[in-house]
Amino acid sequence: MKPVHFAPGPSELYFTVEDHLRLGLRQAVPSLSHRSKEFERIVERVSAGLRQLLELPDNFHIAFTASATEIWERSIQNLVAAQSTHYVNGSFSAKYAEIASQLGRTTEVIRVNEGHAFHQPTRHHAELIALTHNETSTGVALPLEFIHGFRTLNPNTLVIVDAVSSLPFPQFDFSKIDSVFFSVQKCFGLPPGLGVWIFNDRCIDKSNQMKKSGHQIGSYHSLPSLHQFALKNQTPETPNTLGIWLLAGVVEDFLRKGIQTIRRETEYKAAILYQALDQHPLVKPFVLENQWRSKTVIVAQTGNHTQRLSEHLAGRGLLAGDGYGPGKGNQLRFANFPTHSKEQYEWLVDSILDFKG
Ligand SMILES: *Cc1c(COP(=O)(O)O)cnc(C)c1O
Repeated sequence: MKPVHFAPGPSELYFTVEDHLRLGLRQAVPSLSHRSKEFERIVERVSAGLRQLLELPDNFHIAFTASATEIWERSIQNLVAAQSTHYVNGSFSAKYAEIASQLGRTTEVIRVNEGHAFHQPTRHHAELIALTHNETSTGVALPLEFIHGFRTLNPNTLVIVDAVSSLPFPQFDFSKIDSVFFSVQKCFGLPPGLGVWIFNDRCIDKSNQMKKSGHQIGSYHSLPSLHQFALKNQTPETPNTLGIWLLAGVVEDFLRKGIQTIRRETEYKAAILYQALDQHPLVKPFVLENQWRSKTVIVAQTGNHTQRLSEHLAGRGLLAGDGYGPGKGNQLRFANFPTHSKEQYEWLVDSILDFKG
C-alpha cells in the first residue's frame, strides 16, 4: 500500500489529481496562452465551481496568486493605509501580523496562548481585522459565531479570514466577512504553488481609495489589477496554468461528491480521532477546549512518545505531520482533509490505539 500523508500541507493529493494531471498534459494545458479562450474557459470553470461550492454571493470575486503568503502581503498593501488588528494564537496568525508590521503598518495584536482561541469579538479602530480561522500550527479553529460577530461591532472595518487549512469545510456567512483566502496544497489536495483570494466590492473600493490618496498598493497584483483581469477570466501575469486546471477538476469532483457529504465525513473523522486521543493512556489532544478543536487539523500532544509513535504509524503506511514551531518534537499533527478517507482514518485510529509506547 502507498503511504498516506497526514501532514497538513503539502498533504496527500486528492485521489483524482493524477487523472486530471494526465488529461491536462494530453490537452497541452501548460502550453496554453493565458490570453486564449481555452485558458479563460478554465478560469471560468474554477470560478463558477468555487462560487457554488462556497456559496459565494455575487458581490464576491475570485483571483489567483502564487500562495497564501502572498495574500497576507497583498491584503495589507491593498486594504490597510495605517492600522490593522490581528488575532494571534499561533505561528501562522503571528506571521500575518508580522508582515503587516514589516510593511510599516501599525499592528494591534490580540494574543492568546497556543492551544487557545478568543472569547468575544470586540470593537476596533483599525481598517482591517485579520482572523485565522484555522491555526494550522496548533489545531485551534475559531468558532464561526466568533468570526461573524465582528461585523455588527465594526460596520466600517473590513474583516478578512485566513481559511487556508480549513476551506471548504467552514460555511461562512459572507454577509459578515469581506474576504477569505486559501492555498491549494492544504484541503484541496493539490500540488503547491497557487493561492486563491476571495474578496468583495468593499475591498475593491478600499483599495481604489488608497490608490487615489497616493498609497502604494503594488503593481500587477494590486487588488484592482487582479480584479480587472478576473472579470475577463484572465490573470495579470502568466500564471500557474496547470495548477488552475487541476483546481478546476478537483472543485468539480468536490461538487459531485457534495459539500454536505464532505462536511459530514470531516466531522466523523475528527470525532473518531479526538475520541481515540482522549482515551489513549500515553497521548492526548493538544487543544483541551472542545469548542476550539479544529476539525481539519488535529494536533496530538505526544511528549516523549513523539518519535516512537511517528515511527509506529509510518510502519503502517501512515505519515503523521511533525509538530510546528514550539510543538516540534512533542506533538504530531494530522490533517483531516477531503482526500483522507473514512477507511484511512479508521486505520489511523486503530493504529494509534494499538500504540503501547
Ligand atoms: C499554510 C498556511 C499559510 C501559508 O500558505 P502558503 O501556501 O505556504 O503561502 C497561511 N496560513 C495558514 C493558516 C496556513 O496553514
